[in-house]
Amino acid sequence: MRVEFDRDTCIGMFQCTAEWDGFEEDNDAGKAILVDGEEVDEDLFAREIPDDAELDAKFAARSCPVDAITVYDDDGEQIIP
Ligand code: SF4
Repeated sequence: MRVEFDRDTCIGMFQCTAEWDGFEEDNDAGKAILVDGEEVDEDLFAREIPDDAELDAKFAARSCPVDAITVYDDDGEQIIP
């Protein structure tokens, strides 16, 4: 499972950081940080989700009010949002 984080879209509401520790708060920027995320495009970060964090990552993605977090299954199908 893979997560993508659109940092440009993020408005720093920080619901995601309460759901999964793969997201941390950057209070100076008013944006979340995808921990260990690789910048795959401008302001777009991605990483694999460890098996034991899949549930938390999905909750984080569902919690985002602006759909800045996208989760893909192992076949590359978008499952959230
Ligand atoms: S919940 Fe969404 S808007 Fe809020 S910090 Fe996380 S990614 Fe950004």
